[in-house]
Amino acid sequence: MTDRVPLIAGNWKMNLDHLQAIALVQKLSWTLNDADHDFGEVEVAVFPPFTDLRSAQTLIDAEKFEVKLGAQDISQHESGAYTGEISGQMLSKLNVEYVLVGHSERRQYHAEDDAVVQEKVAAAWANNLIPIICVGENLEELETQGQSAVPINQTINALSGHKTLGEFVIAYEPVWAIGTGKVATSQEASEVATAIRQALKTSFGDDAANSRILYGGSVKANNVAGFLQSEQVDGVLVGGASLDAEEFSGISRFKKHIVL
Ligand code: PEP
Repeated sequence: MTDRVPLIAGNWKMNLDHLQAIALVQKLSWTLNDADHDFGEVEVAVFPPFTDLRSAQTLIDAEKFEVKLGAQDISQHESGAYTGEISGQMLSKLNVEYVLVGHSERRQYHAEDDAVVQEKVAAAWANNLIPIICVGENLEELETQGQSAVPINQTINALSGHKTLGEFVIAYEPVWAIGTGKVATSQEASEVATAIRQALKTSFGDDAANSRILYGGSVKANNVAGFLQSEQVDGVLVGGASLDAEEFSGISRFKKHIVL
């Protein structure tokens, strides 16, 4: 048994306007509350688009919902002439707790490299946000370098060069499994999480190695339990299936599917 609290994180990507966001947060919270979900035992967080954050925050505050709020990205800059960017301060003022950093879609479509990811991690910590650092290999890298090399390098690069480390979460997301319906096996996810944890220990020590490591890539209610059976995997980052309240609450309640 570990003392790490599992985190179930729902990345909505570029879906749902602010009215749809209100409806989804409400339905998700009611569904979990009806099922007596213990949020202290399994954390649940949603990552809506920026334009939905204020509405979601207002609802969560007013209703005292226990679902947490995350953002999908953060600028590496504090403020200034960076048209279209959103700063860490803007996010923390909205009670955002988590921020995705280096999601493969940001790396792929917005040319974010490890240096930018490292700066974004610093920006998150400067604003009391917990970065969820997304790492993972594409198909070509899988074939040429195996499964762990790229995620380990991306993890080390994101965390190197900081004076001290703040709290962080790693999300291992094989790029070939995102939105494709292809999933890593639970054994593969467990092996890569173990390798990342070992690299964290070697490079940054025991506290860093006790950080949460999530798996992401085509997770659904009917396959989540396999991944979380491993002591090395401390939750999941979910894309498509987080847009459906019933499905996402089923994923959040993964413990009922685990046969010990
Ligand atoms: C993601 O966007 O991080 C993700 C894992 O997407 P999906 O669950 O749709 O594969």
